[in-house]
Amino acid sequence: MTDKNPKEFSLAGSGASPGIAIGKAYVADHTDFDSVEQVVLPMSEVHAEVARFKEAVKRSEKDLGRLIKRSPKELGQQVQILEAHKALLRDKMFYGRTIETIRRGRVNAEWALKNTVDRLRSVFRKIEDAYIRDRGDDVVYVYKQVMKNLLGKSVENGVEKVGKRMILVAHDVSPAEASQLQHEYIQAFVTDRGGRTSHTSIIARALQMPSVAGLENATKKIRTGDLIIVDGTAGLVIVHPEEETLFRYNAAREQFEAAQALLARDSRFPAQTPDGFLVQVNANIELLEEVVAVMDRGGDGVGLYRTEFLYLNRKNLPAEQELYENYKEVVELLAPRPVTIRTLDINGDKVAEGIFSEEGDNPALGLRAIRFCLTQPALFRVQMKAILRASAHGYVRILFPMISTLEELLRAKELLEEAAQELRQAGEAFKPDLEVGVMIEVPSAALICDILADHVDFFSIGTNDLIQYTMAADRTNRHVAYLFNAMNPSVLRLLDRVAAVAREKNVRLAMCGEMAGDPRHVPVLLGMGFSELSMNSASIPAVKNLIRLLPKAECEAVLPSILSASDAETAADLVQEAFGKYLEAGKGPQPAAGEPVTAS
Ligand code: PEP
Ligand code: MG
Repeated sequence: MTDKNPKEFSLAGSGASPGIAIGKAYVADHTDFDSVEQVVLPMSEVHAEVARFKEAVKRSEKDLGRLIKRSPKELGQQVQILEAHKALLRDKMFYGRTIETIRRGRVNAEWALKNTVDRLRSVFRKIEDAYIRDRGDDVVYVYKQVMKNLLGKSVENGVEKVGKRMILVAHDVSPAEASQLQHEYIQAFVTDRGGRTSHTSIIARALQMPSVAGLENATKKIRTGDLIIVDGTAGLVIVHPEEETLFRYNAAREQFEAAQALLARDSRFPAQTPDGFLVQVNANIELLEEVVAVMDRGGDGVGLYRTEFLYLNRKNLPAEQELYENYKEVVELLAPRPVTIRTLDINGDKVAEGIFSEEGDNPALGLRAIRFCLTQPALFRVQMKAILRASAHGYVRILFPMISTLEELLRAKELLEEAAQELRQAGEAFKPDLEVGVMIEVPSAALICDILADHVDFFSIGTNDLIQYTMAADRTNRHVAYLFNAMNPSVLRLLDRVAAVAREKNVRLAMCGEMAGDPRHVPVLLGMGFSELSMNSASIPAVKNLIRLLPKAECEAVLPSILSASDAETAADLVQEAFGKYLEAGKGPQPAAGEPVTAS
């Protein structure tokens, strides 16, 4: 029985992408479970339907087998659970009964399976022993596993089934799935898992789709059809809002949109501090389609083109021509502005199906980004040839991710030279003096940046990974999100060192991690002398606006005290004390996550 006047309640998580959305929820996991329809089949199709079910079970067995193999030995209990799930797949009550239902009732496998599971669950529910009763959950888990294989993997989240302009509520959305979400169908999404700097959240910001991550149990507390408010700025989800709350949030939404429009008005002008320091404010993009937003928001160029997405959501590798055409279009649309194309960064939290990847228990510490590309010179050369060819059409720079030693950088440059040589021989046009940059996102690279400096034109600091690896805190794990703070003294010291080396060695200093787009960090970065900041395009207007108010000399003067703070909170307080008036005056539409704009 559903309650006609359900009570308002709110769930708190991390503000993954700012903005406010109000609409009906679509709970991906639950709906997959509840919305199975019965289809009566002609006798001639029953045999094939049984075979389809058997095939799905076989695939589920394989999936579980793989998970068991990958489980560390120390997690013996987890292995036992997975083994039990595997055994359940072939249990007479599960397997035998479903096949019998398909045959006897001449029904589709999905419906027969649901029927079996419903019965089993009601049996479990009646059991008094709590431990055994809870095994009912295992049945549901196995059910979902088989269902996934019956329906095909792509519907894991049921994302494509979302109705018009609903709000997607899912346990998790992968970066690949997020990149396929369209405003036309959904206006916001919220997840149980994830954190602010996970790639999924970065994509939500790029799509300018309000989003809240790390809600823990949103898929359990929210039901499809519930009216919800997503406050991506404060990291809140309000379920069954009362009239007064709705009124308040409607007003806040309008305010947010008006503030954005106001800031956007001036954003096409350069960002220069009152004492004449010019900062290039660039955009991070993941897809060609985002170029329009870059121009709309007044981006001075692209400081980071994450090129992974042409490799995701597909079974084959993109050819040189396809990559070239994509890069060329971005470069031509933005010319004469610079476009910084980063070479492939996969196997961290972005995994491309069908491409070799070493399965390790710690993908972020494994064969990711440049490490992977150096083991695949043919694949790497294809991408670099495409980047080089695109350079003939505008201003292109190349950027290598995850460099942690000089040898990696030199090998990457060697392969770049080989790619250039091949193009020369083929008579293809490209710019011979392409600027080469290195991402400083691994502490080892920050520590040897003086050595790397002699071989590159620019540094681009990736704080998302630099924080992750410095603090040993998984960027996608909500439980360690408290460590994920750019103002940690350890992080600030690394940044300051890289900035000093860049000045001394005359290497251009850029930042493309999320830190660059947060107004609270801009005074620190100006003090260190960053001349390029790259961020999601939605943040550009507010950051440009703030730079125009901040005298660089003041930022330089306060920096030493910030650097000598013994913890992140003290450092943040010092910024607030010294620059609060500028931050207030320049306030854009993106208050920091966790600071509610409207929530009481
Ligand atoms: C970073 O690590 O800060 C960065 C910009 O790269 P990505 O977020 O794609 O890992
Ligand atoms: Mg990175």
